[in-house]
Amino acid sequence: MDFLERLDLKTFKESALRVPYERVDSHLFQGVELWVRRDDQLDPLLSGNKAYKLLFNLLEATERGVKTVATCGGAWSNHIHATAAAGARFGFSTLGIIRGERPPSLSAMLEDAQRLGMQLVFVSRAQYRRRGEATFLREIGLEENSILFVPEGGSNWAGVKGAGFLGQVISESQPVDFDQLWVACGTGATFAGLGSTIKASPVVGVEILKAGASVATDSACWLERLGMSRNNLQHIEGVSLDPLEEYSRLRLLSGFHCGGYGKYPEGLKRFQVAFERDTGIPLDPVYTSKLFMALSYCVVAGKVPVGSRVLAIHTGGLQGRRGYR
Ligand SMILES: *Cc1c(COP(=O)(O)O)cnc(C)c1O
Repeated sequence: MDFLERLDLKTFKESALRVPYERVDSHLFQGVELWVRRDDQLDPLLSGNKAYKLLFNLLEATERGVKTVATCGGAWSNHIHATAAAGARFGFSTLGIIRGERPPSLSAMLEDAQRLGMQLVFVSRAQYRRRGEATFLREIGLEENSILFVPEGGSNWAGVKGAGFLGQVISESQPVDFDQLWVACGTGATFAGLGSTIKASPVVGVEILKAGASVATDSACWLERLGMSRNNLQHIEGVSLDPLEEYSRLRLLSGFHCGGYGKYPEGLKRFQVAFERDTGIPLDPVYTSKLFMALSYCVVAGKVPVGSRVLAIHTGGLQGRRGYR
């Protein structure tokens, strides 16, 4: 595994180009040729899509001469973890704004973050709800001029551009041409960014939370800002059995959230165990297990044409496994 030593586009790209693609042979995906891009192995600490989403945010901080990066999230946030790791690696101070009172014992993720030098600021749920407002930092007593504030999940314009950059790296490094690319969606920022630079194949996003229309709406906004029509995007509700080919180039699947964000029912757990046994690839319980379960379902149900070459992105998040022991 690589170790990102410096913060610049060239170094990052070299690491990203070395991320392995693994051909997976498992009965869970019988009939299609499945490849997994292992972005969980981008770097030992700074991995997954959160690293890509942070990239342009951190470059902006450097450019502006800002020494402190603040962001927010929950007790198991992959984004908080990545931000703390990036701060330690590249010499930024980091502030993690965490929802709720400081618990008597911190989650393993928050302990990591603290060990990496992140200062944790616990704010009330009422304050946290206002995290999208311009006055948020001032309200919780932070000096906004000397801070770069990155929203939850790293899902801002710089984050979307980072995901677009990942798409570019994929286009330059893919071992074969793919018929479909699959990725897990929380906010949809990664999906939208990929959709802007992966032009040769459809991109399928699996929503991992009960989002209603919000992920589709947000993704459509990002796409428009990227200069693409929102007609490129289709939201496929429930677990429809139509072949996926009938939809437009960018497809969001809403039927595989397993009850909501962070929900980890027995069936999902069993799927994850079977997947890991078959492939040797570890998954995280919140995002990638739902991604591969949705893909397996669609393959078995005949929604993905036999013989298709499918690329699934392993977006990381493995630190979160510790929350589900
Ligand atoms: C955050 C995250 C996602 C979702 O990214 P969005 O850009 O919010 O859609 C997917 N996979 C993992 C492992 C993540 O941590």
